[in-house]
Amino acid sequence: MAQRRATAHAPFAHRHLGTTGPELGTILQRLAVADLEDVAAAAIPEGLPVLPPREHAQPASPSAGGLDEAGAIEALRALAALNDPHVEMIGQGYHPCLTPAVIARDILGNPAWTTSYTPYQAEISQGRLEAQLLFQTVICDLTGLPVACTSLLDEATAVAEAATLMARAARANRGTVILDAGLHPQCLEVARSRCQALGLETLQIGAEEISDAAALPEALLGAVLAHTTTRGRVQDLSAAVRVVHDRGGLVAIDADPLALTVLACPGQIGADIAVGSAQRLGVPLFFGGPHPGFMAVSQALQRQIPGRIVGVSRDAEGAQAYRLALQTREQHIRRQKATSNICTAQALLAVVAAMYAVHHGPQGLRDIATAIHERAAQIAVGVRQAGLEIEHEDFFDTLAVRLADAAQAVARAEAGGYNLRLLDAEHVGVSTNETTTAADVSRVIALLTGQELDDAQPAPPADGVLPLPQALTREGDFLTHPTFHEHRSEASLVRYLRRLADRDLALDRTMIPLGSCTLKLNAAVESAAWLDPALAGIHPYAPARQTRGWRRILGQLSSRLARLAGYDRISLQPASGAQGELAGLLAISSYLESIGQGQRDTCLVPASAHGTNAASAAGAGMRVVVVASAADGSIDVEDLRRALAANERRVAAIMLTYPSTHGVFEPQVTQVAELVHAAGGQVYIDGANLNALCGLMRPGDLGGDVSHLNLHKTFAIPHGGGGPGVGPVAVKAHLAPFLPGAPTGSAAPVDGDPDTGFTGAPVSGARFGSAGAMPLAWSYLALMDDADLRTASLSAIAHANYIAAELADSFPTLYSGPGGWVAHECILDLRELTAATGVSAEDVAKRLIDFGFHAPTLAFPVAGTLMVEPTESEPKAELDRFIAAMRTIRAEIDEIAAGAVALEDSVVRRAPHTLAQVAGDDWDRPYPRSRAAFPLEGMERDKYFAPVARIDNAFGDRNLACTCPPPTAFQDEAI
Ligand SMILES: *Cc1c(COP(=O)(O)O)cnc(C)c1O
Repeated sequence: MAQRRATAHAPFAHRHLGTTGPELGTILQRLAVADLEDVAAAAIPEGLPVLPPREHAQPASPSAGGLDEAGAIEALRALAALNDPHVEMIGQGYHPCLTPAVIARDILGNPAWTTSYTPYQAEISQGRLEAQLLFQTVICDLTGLPVACTSLLDEATAVAEAATLMARAARANRGTVILDAGLHPQCLEVARSRCQALGLETLQIGAEEISDAAALPEALLGAVLAHTTTRGRVQDLSAAVRVVHDRGGLVAIDADPLALTVLACPGQIGADIAVGSAQRLGVPLFFGGPHPGFMAVSQALQRQIPGRIVGVSRDAEGAQAYRLALQTREQHIRRQKATSNICTAQALLAVVAAMYAVHHGPQGLRDIATAIHERAAQIAVGVRQAGLEIEHEDFFDTLAVRLADAAQAVARAEAGGYNLRLLDAEHVGVSTNETTTAADVSRVIALLTGQELDDAQPAPPADGVLPLPQALTREGDFLTHPTFHEHRSEASLVRYLRRLADRDLALDRTMIPLGSCTLKLNAAVESAAWLDPALAGIHPYAPARQTRGWRRILGQLSSRLARLAGYDRISLQPASGAQGELAGLLAISSYLESIGQGQRDTCLVPASAHGTNAASAAGAGMRVVVVASAADGSIDVEDLRRALAANERRVAAIMLTYPSTHGVFEPQVTQVAELVHAAGGQVYIDGANLNALCGLMRPGDLGGDVSHLNLHKTFAIPHGGGGPGVGPVAVKAHLAPFLPGAPTGSAAPVDGDPDTGFTGAPVSGARFGSAGAMPLAWSYLALMDDADLRTASLSAIAHANYIAAELADSFPTLYSGPGGWVAHECILDLRELTAATGVSAEDVAKRLIDFGFHAPTLAFPVAGTLMVEPTESEPKAELDRFIAAMRTIRAEIDEIAAGAVALEDSVVRRAPHTLAQVAGDDWDRPYPRSRAAFPLEGMERDKYFAPVARIDNAFGDRNLACTCPPPTAFQDEAI
């Protein structure tokens, strides 16, 4: 690929890296090494398989990296041009829609929204928390159920979550969940396999067959029913709901959000749970994802809902504030007992869906839904006039048209530029959507009926088919909150979005030094083309001949990732790291089963592991046995030997993270892998820390059989305020056949596709999961060659060691490897200071907000600590600003230690400080206002003020509210 530059080649890596030249020199000098290769020699213990230094790729290419910015954009566009976009009317849970330009620009194209982190630090996340609360409000209002979460990974996993929730709520390990045969096939597949992994039975029958309580299975846990079937029939579910309830089961209804604006909602029908996909609320097709799955539940089930819930609480001043509710349900604390394994969800897309509802308001959504229904009705009239039959009288947007030769009609439509769905030999599915025009209606009728296409022919009137039956129509208002009414004008919406974004800290304002999360630069060039219709406009089930570009992009991405990680094959299907873990562990189970070792049911998890590891093991139906850490933080090899002996012939796998979550290159990693292999187990290396290894070492060379990678960490996909994520799972050849296969409806893999030969059950509804986000990671790798990636890893390690060294006197680093070096992150130990002064790690995290910083990772993997990961992208000035802030805070703590100020009155405990406090007329604190607001020199001009003071988490959990409070509540300080 030609470099597009008239001047001498200026590699992109120099922009991706925060420190180069003399600045890097200063850092290296502080570490007493001459160059970055010396960092590798010093930090990585001897005896590990370190790759030799890399040459820059000659010549640069999309698959080897090294392109410049213009070259990378051009290469991606050239691949996108190999796709052959058709008018997508396949439906099956994925519908084209119109993303309002203001949302595309101000949210999807805006680093203030895309580069923020999951809102753990609530005080600096009030904007995205409000947006996600709006999403919950949309879901609650549309479904008629009171409690919603901020998003799930997609519709198919939401159905699976509903089914497994039923078992959790019943505290049962056994029992049967009925899955409505009318659900989309991909939802059935994903739910069935998730249930199977947990030992739950599923029974697939039509909702109309649920009429006799006595005929239902023993130990019935509940039923997941389809609001409208995959073939398009609007179902009257009231009888089925009654029967399942009579038998003590729970009822979930899978529904389309636009259909819910006109049809009876799950709450009205009596459901306990509603699930679905909010994709068509403004989110592009993206070749299958990322899409916001949703779930809402009844009050009785609120503690069972998976994923995150934004709730309303109050701050130290008694003012209303948002924060994540019920955080004790989270994996880090509950581990294998966690309610779910949603760590990264689809936050950014949930925000898009919420703002689509804000943009259109309730009447706008109803109008869109009505227009969609009318288009479908027009097609129904047209094909009936031509003598064809429609399978169902009661439809919303999807028709099953009966034809003598359905395959031929689908082929004719494709030749005419339309993708329809082949339902069976005699039925074609056609789904209308927000983009369907009158011309589309005429053409589809002509293509279905085989008539001459006559563009002058007007679309038939929809009379006679509307309205929908009374019993099935929606009662009651929705989206009554003022926010859904105040922003009809774009001027108002732009300012609302700006106001929310300004409340938050994202990477466009500050480094986010969150250990284990790798918040590196998300370069603009990487997101230059991901919204192009030639990529984002493609349906996941479009025929293979139309998606050559997509499959080339994904093929290049997976080969490069597999090479970098040292594995043979990769599945791109998992939509998060946690889902990658699940897919990897399921592959291990199936493999063991296939070699007659099905009794191996135990997963060893080190005490220091990320909470998702244990939760994934539980989700894969494995038993978790914890392996202790030694005093130096590494895996305790003696305890490992004991665990292996105690669980002889039962160990399926060990899950370890490398470098460990203690931020250290453990010398014994290869020994650990050998011990587990010798005991017949498989080795899962959690690849979330690949940012310390890329170009340097490969998990596959360390003894790993399987690893997941986090493209939203190491490979520069922005975090989106809590997703999208991409968690590909990489394996050695023996596990490849057990990786997730293509869901029904997808084009089957053809030779050269990255997923040929994978036959495991799918974990997502779409073959390539969150494909839409992958061009960003592809671009990162097209820009960075292997030598650049090695430089990036070594810079990340140098930066972490620089911070550890500079802060050694203020906040000692807890664990380090041989020679005192850490890997790409360091754990600052505050426990002694806390014991001496009462100042907690949380106090330091909150005080950092006054300096304009996002806190490091708090209390993981060790309580009472902060884990700092600066990444390679931070300039030295930003590292130094952080160091200065931390030293200042240390001095503030010393004042408390010296008895000069009481902890409760200290600037640290009372942080963060809001503008209202600092500028207020009352000031009774023992420190000056200037110290509260401007603790470092030079902060005055660009000061960030947290919009709320420190938040009372417990209050909000005791009084759970997870929809938007009425505006008057904000004026009422004493809630
Ligand atoms: C981030 C992370 C995960 C989970 O990834 P998600 O995409 O958030 O599900 C797993 N393990 C480790 C060590 C991580 O840092």
